[in-house]
Amino acid sequence: MFLSHLNPQQREDAVSALAREQFDVLVIGGGVNGVGAALDAASRGLKVALIESQDIAAGTSSRSSKLIHGGLRYLEQYDFKLVREALHERELLVSTLCPHLVKPVGFLFPLTEKFKERTYVGAGLALYDALRGFQRALPWHKHLSQKQINEIAPSLRPDIIMGAIKYFDAQVDDARHTLSVARTAIRHGATIATRVRADSLIREGKRVVGVNARDLVSGELIAIKATATVMCAGIWSDELHAKFDLKAGYHVTMSKGVHIVVPGHAIKSNAGIILKTPVSVLFIIPWGDKWIVGTTDTPYTGDRAEPLASQEDVNYIVDQANRVLTPKLNIKDIIGVYAGLRPLVANNKSSVTTKLSREHTVDRPAPGFVSIAGGKYTTYRIMSRDVIDLAVIELRKLTSESVTEKLPLVGADGYFALVQQIDRISEESGLDLPTINHLLNRYGSLISEILEIIKENPSLASKLTPELPYIKAEIYYAASHEGALTVDDVISRRTRIAFEAESHGIKLAELISEIISPVLGWTNKERKASVSAYQSLVEREIDALAEVISQAHKVNS
Ligand SMILES: Cc1cc2nc3c(=O)[nH]c(=O)nc-3n(C[C@H](O)[C@H](O)[C@H](O)COP(=O)(O)OP(=O)(O)OC[C@H]3O[C@@H](n4cnc5c(N)ncnc54)[C@H](O)[C@@H]3O)c2cc1C
Repeated sequence: MFLSHLNPQQREDAVSALAREQFDVLVIGGGVNGVGAALDAASRGLKVALIESQDIAAGTSSRSSKLIHGGLRYLEQYDFKLVREALHERELLVSTLCPHLVKPVGFLFPLTEKFKERTYVGAGLALYDALRGFQRALPWHKHLSQKQINEIAPSLRPDIIMGAIKYFDAQVDDARHTLSVARTAIRHGATIATRVRADSLIREGKRVVGVNARDLVSGELIAIKATATVMCAGIWSDELHAKFDLKAGYHVTMSKGVHIVVPGHAIKSNAGIILKTPVSVLFIIPWGDKWIVGTTDTPYTGDRAEPLASQEDVNYIVDQANRVLTPKLNIKDIIGVYAGLRPLVANNKSSVTTKLSREHTVDRPAPGFVSIAGGKYTTYRIMSRDVIDLAVIELRKLTSESVTEKLPLVGADGYFALVQQIDRISEESGLDLPTINHLLNRYGSLISEILEIIKENPSLASKLTPELPYIKAEIYYAASHEGALTVDDVISRRTRIAFEAESHGIKLAELISEIISPVLGWTNKERKASVSAYQSLVEREIDALAEVISQAHKVNS
């Protein structure tokens, strides 16, 4: 109790508990909604287990635009309740639940027309700001003069941009946040095991009483007993409903969203930029010393685990951004690309079991089994609460209400005080100020665990590579405290090297494998296998990007 580590020993203990114990709630899926549900249930005092077939956040929850936002576009649909709810969550996340992870970010809304557009967008943003009520962690929007626009965003084309309004939203490293929710759930007693896949349901009559699962590391079957099974499988929902022989009240279709990453110097701006596109919006989002630009929105029916960006996706993003940018983005600038799949929920008209809100759906297709899908990252806490509210009915006992609104994530306690002590921490640890700042914004008060590792092995204080902010201790920590079991887990989700470094960070795979190998107890053969598994995983993505780049060279020559 009170520990929040994920590591090989913890996994071994979790797998044996899964086979041995009777749980109140078993959650399938370790995306943000699954880990949120596990935390919600554990913090109500229930006995909870969660299984994830890949890695924590390996699905959509590591592939979003990474914005914690009310959703300006819902205002155009007059869905004020939804916007207010998301803005309330944004406020909670920035100020209380995880201020070390969720940060305010300013956006410019450029205007191409002087009066009508300014009135329309200005009124929308005033409403957006007003809907958050009296809680105000983020500044109010502001109309900018032409001079201010030139100062803040010299990259906006002065020939077509007639004005701009600056407003605020928030951003997060989605995979890191999902991991922090999982670790908080563990701290409150949840049993969590990754690489364990739900294969079929255990039934007593019509009632679901657990899940037959496969430990994908050992290959063994585990029969997990639970009074309520909660499925949070996102884009895998339809596939699992079919596999479990359940007639669900909704369908989940997929829409692909691609982002590109370009270096800081490619766009000169001190704020993010939001653009209306013919189909949706395009965000230009600051990401450390880089920019994330996206996204697309196209129907998808391919491999769920490995969505791939196409040449058209990348060209679309660059073309849309270049409508307002000077100098124009060059395809040669692109450092990284990633693709994610949105779970889009459609209600089955005949269903009597489904409660469909505008954004997410909860369902009870069989006694003992409930599920949730849809929604957006920002409102994961509400979704998690809603699905556990439904699940506790299965327990037929009095349970307390959700307390997650008042429950900061691991690392949040003392964060604001630690920021004030940054000079002292730097002096005592011997790490420079930018590194301490980087660590505080990734681990909050859990920075002490990283510093402990460095104390034991000072060589881990050095940087992984001069181009990126990560130090070697973070890589070690990914395996010793954060449940990374492969090179891919470290490169793609514990860090974001997969889209922050050239060629998906392949050049760093060997070094990373050497750092995590002692924690994972690998033989040299196992270490090499993890490196080559990562290499083959990214090969197809690199090929796709290389195709785009080679075309750009042809155009430019
Ligand atoms: C391009 C894009 C941009 C987005 N941008 C934003 C944004 O800026 N802000 C925002 O609020 N929202 C955003 N979203 C939406 C948000 O990312 C998703 O709504 C959210 O991450 C979904 O989380 P989830 O837990 O439902 O699904 P997932 O994260 O996909 O989790 C489902 C998990 O279930 C696991 N699983 C599947 N089958 C099994 C099995 N048999 N056994 C065990 N586990 C299994 C999977 O491995 C997976 O990890 C975006 C989405 C996309 C695609």
